[in-house]
Amino acid sequence: MDDDVFLIDWLSERSAKCPGCGYELTGIREPKCPECATALRLSVACSDDGLWSWIISMLAITLGIGFDSVVAALIALPILIVGGAPPHIHVFFYGLLTLDLFSIGMLIWVTRRRRAWMRLNKTPRRAIAVGIIFATFLLHAGFGGGLLYAMI
Ligand SMILES: [Zn+2]
Repeated sequence: MDDDVFLIDWLSERSAKCPGCGYELTGIREPKCPECATALRLSVACSDDGLWSWIISMLAITLGIGFDSVVAALIALPILIVGGAPPHIHVFFYGLLTLDLFSIGMLIWVTRRRRAWMRLNKTPRRAIAVGIIFATFLLHAGFGGGLLYAMI
């Protein structure tokens, strides 16, 4: 059976809302929303938030990498322009770079573990996501806060 015919047949007996505008699609005659003209197709989707918790974990790590990179660049520019800096600034600078590399490694590891992540039950998956978010925030906020304290 053609996919469009199957979609129209499927919607002839079931209630479903348009993902674009929320219009009720029961009984449509062509594979597009009569209200907003969004093209429609049947698809398979996750029934829980497995992918969302994985994406949010990736986002938290990526934000940490961005934070490290921006702060490291802000430290490096004055050192490059003026030259020289107190030793503790160098410690924080290289610490940020190390944290950046660690975060990139973590991002690669989480990316490669996606299948294993999806096989976990919802509760451990959410617990790992919350752990990654808090660990990333605490590590980077602690390091950034320490750096700011050392610079003042
Ligand atoms: Zn619509």
